[in-house]
Amino acid sequence: MNKLILIFLLIFFSCQKAKVERNSKVIVIQPLGNFQSDAAQEVLEKIREINPNVVLRKSIDFPLGSYYKPRNRFRADSIIKYLKSQVGTDSVIVGLSSKDISTTKNGHQYWGIMGLGYHPGSACVVSDFRLSDKNKKDQFYKVVLHELGHTEGLPHCKTKTCLMRDAEGGNPIDEEKNFCENCTFFLKSKNWKLQ
Ligand SMILES: [Zn+2]
Ligand SMILES: [Zn+2]
Repeated sequence: MNKLILIFLLIFFSCQKAKVERNSKVIVIQPLGNFQSDAAQEVLEKIREINPNVVLRKSIDFPLGSYYKPRNRFRADSIIKYLKSQVGTDSVIVGLSSKDISTTKNGHQYWGIMGLGYHPGSACVVSDFRLSDKNKKDQFYKVVLHELGHTEGLPHCKTKTCLMRDAEGGNPIDEEKNFCENCTFFLKSKNWKLQ
């Protein structure tokens, strides 16, 4: 009899554990084209601090048909559509690009951007092409967090120092310090390990 209870308890606890792990998404880092592998490795290590469930995949080519030659840009919407098909519902994938990426915005069909993500959804892409040379890596990681924030469902934020601030066609990233209190609260509810 006691043995039976023990078995029930074990089953109960293993189910509880599975439930907790399901809540925390796997972040898949996907370098595109000739994106530098040491820079991708750095992103992996930084993300590990907010979510230990992170993996770095081998670089792949930009998806077929995403290149727009007249502007020498890749369509970010085509990229995230393709990336989405490369992961299951338990994951979110972030593409890393050093090529310029674009989307249709403000009446422009090939508007150059720093990143694009589903809101919410399971894919985003970030490009370092438009970032300041001076502190490219720091800015790049901030954009990665911004796009991952969108995939969790966060909209743009009015707080000037918040990572969810809308760039509005410029580059205000150096003014952004961290997620603001509200955005942090939201992301913590999605199991992000933030201070
Ligand atoms: Zn945004
Ligand atoms: Zn905010």
